Amino acid sequence: MAFKTDIEIAREAKKKPIMEIGSKLGIPAEHLLPYGHDKAKVSQEFIKSLAGKPDGKLVLVTAINPTPAGEGKTTTTVGLGDGLNRIGKKAVICIREASLGPNFGMKGGAAGGGMAQVVPMEEMNLHFTGDFHAITSAHNLLSAMIDNHIYWGNELNIDARRVVWRRVMDMNDRALRDIVVNLGGVSNGFPRQTGFDITVASEVMAILCLSNDLEDLQKRLGDIVVAYTRDKKAIYCRDIKADGAMTVLLKDAMQPNLVQTLENNPAFVHGGPFANIAHGCNSVIATKTALKLGEYVVTEAGFGADLGAEKFFDIKCRKAGLKPAAAVIVATVRAMKMNGGVAKADLGAENVEAVKKGCPNLGRHIANVKSFGVPVVVAINHFYSDTDAEVAAVKAYVAEQGAEAVLCKHWANGSAGVEDLAHAVVKLAESGTSNFAPLYPDEMGLFQKVETIAKRIYHADEVIADKSVRDQLKAWEAAGYGHLPVCMAKTQYSFSTDPNLRGAPTGHTIPVREVRLSAGAGFIVVICGEIMTMPGLPKVPSAEVIRLNDAGQVEGLF
Ligand code: ADP
Ligand code: MG
Repeated sequence: MAFKTDIEIAREAKKKPIMEIGSKLGIPAEHLLPYGHDKAKVSQEFIKSLAGKPDGKLVLVTAINPTPAGEGKTTTTVGLGDGLNRIGKKAVICIREASLGPNFGMKGGAAGGGMAQVVPMEEMNLHFTGDFHAITSAHNLLSAMIDNHIYWGNELNIDARRVVWRRVMDMNDRALRDIVVNLGGVSNGFPRQTGFDITVASEVMAILCLSNDLEDLQKRLGDIVVAYTRDKKAIYCRDIKADGAMTVLLKDAMQPNLVQTLENNPAFVHGGPFANIAHGCNSVIATKTALKLGEYVVTEAGFGADLGAEKFFDIKCRKAGLKPAAAVIVATVRAMKMNGGVAKADLGAENVEAVKKGCPNLGRHIANVKSFGVPVVVAINHFYSDTDAEVAAVKAYVAEQGAEAVLCKHWANGSAGVEDLAHAVVKLAESGTSNFAPLYPDEMGLFQKVETIAKRIYHADEVIADKSVRDQLKAWEAAGYGHLPVCMAKTQYSFSTDPNLRGAPTGHTIPVREVRLSAGAGFIVVICGEIMTMPGLPKVPSAEVIRLNDAGQVEGLF
């Protein structure tokens, strides 16, 4: 059977003017700042005016550990938003913006898929409203000011070998991972080694996504640690006096972007921090604004629930005071089969035994999410090749875990395919059973926080770390950073740190290789394994086939 591609479906969308979408939410035209006809930012004044209003119900969409079979979290987030609107609930979707660089490598789009997409999808995956360019500029302004400070006499005594603030660009370019700057003689400064990360890995991105307003943004920017002196005293962004100008560059980027689904329902697409060295959720300001405007807000967290949901709860919800009413765990029959040992090439054939064998991965995610006090429903994102017997096996397994699994066909049928899930979510959210609490208290020691996550969420036996890592954590506790949450960076493919260990492993150890302080964002990054912050392009990048057709439309992007 031949299906239309995501971009073909998106192109046929019957979009409504963005002012009409805004008015559905009660946003007056003068408070929508249009970027063309189908995108708009919401004004700062309007957001402030909502302060006294009650909040709607927050629903998190998360998933099992990703497999190459694909899970469809964004697709389900968008589909559920449409489904809730279909059954008469005023629902708003909140998802992340896409990084531009990876689209030219091999990544799929970030706007959902099939009949559950947000539009304009090409723009959302390219320049969109310029937020990421603004973040790139703000980040690099600080980089330039640091080297400039050293050049003009280095009054702060920055140790040029200990500048931790790098540069960023929204492109996959491995050539820039490690570079030497300030070459060319006396008039160009003091040569030193540094490098580029991709923009979504910038701490400025994480800060923008966790800030409540422009004031909070500027304070957090000022808190960034950019370098150390020879005797290891921290130098902050505010010492370099860059925080004010960076805030100016980010003024518009801080405003949430409103777009629409294929079914003309409202969606905020705002912010896009990495899900490994950062927390991987859309902005707090978009989520909070949506909660004031809708009865339901459906949002997504990156990767599987062991990383995505844990960080959503322990970083975003803890810091922003959000209380999710329900969580949806997306699973697919194909991914259950892969967890049960089937190779990607054999996924087309019915294999109920393999489905059953793979289900414990889902089971552990259900128990984990419930342990935060949030009630769970499983969405089986239906693929064309799934058989009734395979679907029944997943449903039976989930029922044994004390939850319900609902078959969803939003990818093929839009909101009509996801009514059952919408009803199930409403039932959970209105049951009042959510009793959300983060996994660990702020006061717990930093290493104990890592151990708590490793044991309770990953089911590991122990965490191992060199003395230097433990000493560093102790030093940060002494410096007043002990109350921060930890942001785990490990593979998304497994509960363990071995990407090939699927299912629900136990008895493994979590080795901590490195820890980093993101003082502005407000978390300690705990790196377990190799983490790439500047991706490269594959041997045949998709950029080779991306082009404009005779009608001036984008071809080759998804
Ligand atoms: P995630 O958010 O989990 O990374 P996405 O929702 O972005 O995943 O989906 C990844 C890709 O899989 C998209 O191209 C989407 O069109 C495709 N996809 C999602 N659900 C289905 C489905 N039920 N059948 C076929 N393809 C699907
Ligand atoms: Mg996604």
